[in-house]
Amino acid sequence: MKTALQYDHYYNYQEITDILREFTEKYPDFTRLISIGKTTEGREMWILEITDTSEGDFDEKPAYMAIGHVHAGEVTGSMCAMYLADVLLNNKEEEQIASLLKNSTFYVMPRPVADGSEYYLTHPDMIRSINIPYPFDSEMPGLVPADLDGDGVIRNMIVKTPFGVWKKDPQDSRLLIRRQSDETDGDFYNVYSEGLINDYDGVHVSMAPQKYGLDLNRNYPMNWNPEYKQPGGGLYPGQVIESRNLIEWISKRRNLVNTIIFHTFGGMYLYPPAGIPAAQADQKDQEMFKAFMKIAKEETGYHQLRIKDDFLGLDSKAPANGSLDDYLYHGNGVFCHSVETWNLAEQCGMVPEYPKPKKLTEEEETENQRKLLEWMDRNELNSFYKEWTEFDHPQLGKVEIGGPDKKYLLQNPPVKFLMQEVEKHTRYILRHARTMPHLVFSQTRTEKLADGLYKVEAVLGNTGFMPTYATSEFLNLKLARDIEVSLEGAETADGEKTQKIGQLEGFASVKANYSFFGPSTIETSPMQKKVCWYVRGEEGTAVKLTAESQKAGRTSTEVILK
Ligand SMILES: [Zn+2]
Repeated sequence: MKTALQYDHYYNYQEITDILREFTEKYPDFTRLISIGKTTEGREMWILEITDTSEGDFDEKPAYMAIGHVHAGEVTGSMCAMYLADVLLNNKEEEQIASLLKNSTFYVMPRPVADGSEYYLTHPDMIRSINIPYPFDSEMPGLVPADLDGDGVIRNMIVKTPFGVWKKDPQDSRLLIRRQSDETDGDFYNVYSEGLINDYDGVHVSMAPQKYGLDLNRNYPMNWNPEYKQPGGGLYPGQVIESRNLIEWISKRRNLVNTIIFHTFGGMYLYPPAGIPAAQADQKDQEMFKAFMKIAKEETGYHQLRIKDDFLGLDSKAPANGSLDDYLYHGNGVFCHSVETWNLAEQCGMVPEYPKPKKLTEEEETENQRKLLEWMDRNELNSFYKEWTEFDHPQLGKVEIGGPDKKYLLQNPPVKFLMQEVEKHTRYILRHARTMPHLVFSQTRTEKLADGLYKVEAVLGNTGFMPTYATSEFLNLKLARDIEVSLEGAETADGEKTQKIGQLEGFASVKANYSFFGPSTIETSPMQKKVCWYVRGEEGTAVKLTAESQKAGRTSTEVILK
């Protein structure tokens, strides 16, 4: 695939803005850059819309949305979204991509949490979503992470103490291993984040509550819960303008069929439901998700997990309420999935911890840390790691600071691994987008009944895998409107020019069975419907037929009265 951008660093807001503008200047017939509003600090919330406008407008086609990230530091996701736009526009003449752009629209939103990401890229702190104090508006007692040694990275800090529960591994002093129950002599340590302690009493060290603890993947108006039930959920759903802009935009985009939201890290595709067990969700949609995940497995090798059942674990106390995934799926009937890019554990050959409730043993945890160090050594990534180095802490006295770069080694891939991370998801999206519904007219004919009186007939079909309503949840929500087929260019002799024909199934609904006698096909619901009008007009008059569906888009054909 041809690309024009460089994937050698993580883009800041201005770079993303400049690139999106360049795309619209270079490809005016294929792109439209819109802002759905401004962030808290006044940055634009860009969406690059991509389609072949010679074959219909942006909002008249089934749409696939790619959201860079809702967690500020997961900047790999922005690069995944940029790569998708890069590939679509630079390969638009390639047959498969040309047909996708003819039949569908892509909404690419690389950076919805632009303030938080800019903060992440320009400060040493980790940050969840947005740099607005929450849940407290002033700093609280406890340890606040800070870059004390001035190397630009907040690492770990170890403090030697007879109460310590860790010790340095005699074979590799970078590695900390657990102190055993009978170990009384030796050097033992406690491990904290590099930082300073508010209101230190000279004895106890515990983490202060996160200063910027709002989680924009817990603040959406679906299964939303307050702070005591759902940490990070916010004071109320849609608390910040970033959430509200997205809520409003999504709720008006009825042509939205699929959304992919990028996160880091883990090497996993996650799909709804997030707030309830999958057994309580629509089972037909769950089967559809499984079909998409089969493609994801083939293209990425990633694990596929249901958010509540497999990722969190059904018995887990850690909920995921108010997620963007659930808002899209349960609130709007849009197929939605999240991707935890950057399969670090797999790269290092670690023991996987999913699906839960699997819990790693102490030996497995230690082994995983050892594998991380070995992998770094093999790949010459030692600049991302600092050996334990003595430091005079103003409160704790002599400590040692060291460990990995949590941002650009653990949370995001070192840039030399960035390209291999971003390209596989675009491969998946290009295949997944083909599963969307697609309307076609066939068997169009006219029959002369008398002078000036004709019967016009056509069959409207859906050749896509998905039904025209996309998710059953969209029907459950009572948001679905019937497909309308209308006739222009002649007066009807009887009946309305516009006919409502309900919905059309996709080929996902067809039972393809193997029996003793071989394969068989059982169509259970209509994928095609016949429509007919009686019209008055002169022979040779051109009559236009148009079908319109909220999610399957619009298609037209012409027939001559004869
Ligand atoms: Zn995330």
